[in-house]
Order: sequence, then structure tokens, then C-alpha cells
Amino acid sequence: MSVMRERLVVMKFGGTSVEDATAIERTANIVRTRRAKRLEAVVVVSAMAKVTDLLLAAATAAGRGDKTGALAIGARLRLRHLDTAATLMEEERFARLQQVLHLEFDALDDLLRGISAVGELTPRTNDLVVSFGERLSSRIVAEAFDQRGLDGVQVDARSCIVTDSNYGKAAPQESAIELKLAEIVLPLIEAGKTPVMGGFIGSNAEGITTTLGRGGSDYTAALVGGGLHASAIEIWTDVNGIMTTDPRICPDALRVKTISFEEAAELAYFGAKVLHPATILPAVQKSIPVWVLNSRNAENEGTKITAMAAKCASPFKSIAAKKKLTIIDVVASRMLMSHGYMKAVFDVFDKYKCAIDMVSTSEVSISLTVDSNQQLPEICAELSKIADVKLEGHKALVCLVGEDIRGHNGIAGRVFSAVSHVNVRMISQGASEINMSFMVDEEDVEEAVRSLHRVFFADPDETVFDVADRVQIANGV
Ligand code: ADP
Ligand code: ASP
Ligand code: MG
Repeated sequence: MSVMRERLVVMKFGGTSVEDATAIERTANIVRTRRAKRLEAVVVVSAMAKVTDLLLAAATAAGRGDKTGALAIGARLRLRHLDTAATLMEEERFARLQQVLHLEFDALDDLLRGISAVGELTPRTNDLVVSFGERLSSRIVAEAFDQRGLDGVQVDARSCIVTDSNYGKAAPQESAIELKLAEIVLPLIEAGKTPVMGGFIGSNAEGITTTLGRGGSDYTAALVGGGLHASAIEIWTDVNGIMTTDPRICPDALRVKTISFEEAAELAYFGAKVLHPATILPAVQKSIPVWVLNSRNAENEGTKITAMAAKCASPFKSIAAKKKLTIIDVVASRMLMSHGYMKAVFDVFDKYKCAIDMVSTSEVSISLTVDSNQQLPEICAELSKIADVKLEGHKALVCLVGEDIRGHNGIAGRVFSAVSHVNVRMISQGASEINMSFMVDEEDVEEAVRSLHRVFFADPDETVFDVADRVQIANGV
């Protein structure tokens, strides 16, 4: 293993941190603070807020032959990006950049016209359309940085992030990425530049554009941090860090000061959107600390994700919730589940590459939960050959995470009495013993999370949770 590059920090800015000229200005100021400390910064940016959704909508419209609708979205996006660039740059630089941006948007329009003409959208073409978001944002941010004396230079992420060809959710190839980063990005760092790459996008061995899955810019940051042996990865977003639950559900959620890789991974997997589930792995493998920080409140310490969990008097660190799930009950046609039965059931999910969140079994049945996805009818048809199958949609999962569950007796009792007014289905405590999960109806999930939050974070351990934040909310500051 090569040595850590002690001064190198990978800084990832999410969609809201580059959503407009004001946000990009803030981002530049944050990067300036790192350079002022003589740190080397590599910046990974998401598409400007909501742009990925709009590009997906444009691609879908084009796919059903709605050329006018698709091009209208393209026109809106063109205006927004040009507007942002014009605000951020002096005239001469803007004039140059404007030409580049127009060429990109002309290419996007051509692509949308092509898709509309064929009336068919393949996963491969869909990836190409959405890739424009990060290509454009990284271009504008790099220029804005350069204008501000930060030596910004855009790197097309597709030249470094090598993936397989699983369009829409491509798997990165870490050793190939490490070589590309050393060849393309390292010389720029050594020349004192601030490389700016789009997150989320990559390309396969043939150079065809791919994407890493929604929220994938965090993943890119971890891959770049891992590949360049950075000393830290900073995920800059729109909240103070990882909170005790989604602040949109509980406005009095508290910042968690430190959390372990394992806890963060569990939270991300079970729905805490603040981090992409795959982010943690490349960082853990190289023991690179990850920070989650607020670009609108850069002074705040954020959350540090570290190898070991700090000792905590509270059993849980955070509560995650995941909606749009379906429970599948698979009941064996014969009384007992025979040898090989489980395998046959799981093979069906494997065939459709469908991830299972939770499983519980009884003598005759298996209940599984999966994301409500378009392949469910096919999966069910196939399962019906070996069992009776029942589907229940509109379910949600609630997951409480904390390494200190182990040391607390009677936790399950406290959890379920907190949600005794909610209809709870399928309870599971993972083998890792750091999560406790159960399913509820989608319409009950927010109430369940709020009730649990009231019980478990009423008297939080101040060494781990930022109680000052709560006082501020209570005072309406
Ligand atoms: P970005 O565009 O920066 O990647 P995201 O929208 O993907 O930002 O993630 C940040 C959002 O994640 C927050 O605004 C918050 O609503 C949500 N979130 C969900 N769970 C949590 C949690 N436990 N802690 C903090 N934020 C959370
Ligand atoms: N722009 C992509 C998305 O919205 C990736 C990201 O922001 O992380 O999913
Ligand atoms: Mg995100």
C-alpha cells in the first residue's frame, strides 16, 4: 500500500452547494480556507440542484417521442447554467466559457432530438443524457475557482472513473481508477492546481459514458480519495452533518459529532440520504477519515466518520427511514420448507439483481422487503412456480443504528413501546448487532421516527451529540 498523501483533501460539494452563483461563491470560499492551510484540494461536484432530475425528465420525454417537452427542459437548463456562469465571471472569461457551454447544450439538444426520433430510451443513452449535469457544473465551478485565484482546472471524470458497463448503476474498477488518477490528476495537484471533477459519472473500457447510481457523487469522492491516498474526504452538503435523524422529519434532530464507518454505512444503506451507501467502503479500506460538513455553515465542526465508534451512553446514534418498499411473503406450498427451498427463492432475486433489505422466516414462510421496482411482477411470477406469493406495497423501513445497542438490555422493549400506537411488521436485529429495524405502513413512518426520536434523544450523551444545536432551534435563533 502506498503512503497517505498527508496534505491532500478531497472535497465533495453536493447539488445544493453548487445550486447557483451564491452557492458556488461559498464553495470557492471554503476551498480557499483549505488552500490557505497549505492543503491540496481535489474537488468533486454534483450537478446543480435538481438538474439530474430535470435531465432524467428530458430523457424520458424524448423516449416517448415528446421532442418539444424534452427540448423545453434543455432550454431551461441552458438559461440557468449561462445565468450562473455570467454572474460568477468577468466578461472576457464568460465570453469564452459561453461558447463551450453552448456547444455542450447543442450536443444535448441533438441527443434529445435523436432519442425522440427513435422513440426509445436505452439505459446507455439515459446515462449519456444525465452525465451533462456533472459535466456542466464541474466546468462552471472550475472556471469560477480559476477566476478567484484558486487555480481551478476541470478534469472530465469520465477519463478517470473507469467502470463496468452496468448502465445506471455501474461498478467502479478501483485499480484502473487509481492508475488514471495518478496519470491525470496527480500532476495537476503537483503543479498547484485545484482539479474539479464531476461526481456520479464514469466510463467503461470502451469509453462509453456510465453513471454510478443516484447520489453517486459521494461515491466518486470516496473513489478519488481512496485512489489518491488522500488524508481526508469532506462531504459538503446542506445540513450540519449526520444528524440523529433526517431533519426534514424531525427539525430538532441533533448533529452526531463522531460516528463509526460501520454505523454510517448501515444508516446510508437504510435510507439516510446524507451519504451514498457505497461511499464508506473505499475510505474504510484505506482508513481515510470522512467528514460530513455544511457548506451553508462552514464553521460548524460537522460529523467525523472514523474506524472506531466513540463510547456513547445512548444506545443509538441515529434513526434512518426508507420509503417505497414492498413486503413479499413467500409461503411454501408444502407444509415445511424443504432443503434447497431458501436457495431457490433467493436465486430468483439474484437473477433480477434485486437487493433485499430485510428477511424474516417462519416454519412455512419467508418475508422479504425490496425496493418497489418495476421488475416485481416478473419476480413474483417466477416465485409463484415454487410457492404462494403475496405482495404488500407502500411500506417503509425504520432502522435504529448504534454500536452501543449491544451493551443495553431491554432495548427492544423500549423501542416497541415507543411505537406501540403504530402497526409494526417484520422486526429484525442485524447479525452485526448495530441495527434494529422494523417495517411500518408508509403513512406511519414519520410518526414512528418522531416517537422514537423523542424517547431516545431526550437526554443525549453530550460527548457524542451536539446539544447546542437543539438549544438554538428551541430559541428560534
Ligand atoms: P447533497 O445534494 O449535498 O448530496 P442530499 O440531499 O443527497 O445532499 O443529502 C442531504 C440531505 O440528507 C439532508 O438535507 C437531509 O434532509 C437528508 N438526511 C436524511 N437523513 C439524514 C441524517 N441522518 N442526517 C443528515 N441528513 C439527513
Ligand atoms: N447528481 C446526481 C444525483 O442527483 C449525483 C449526486 O448528486 O450525487 O443523483
Ligand atoms: Mg447526496
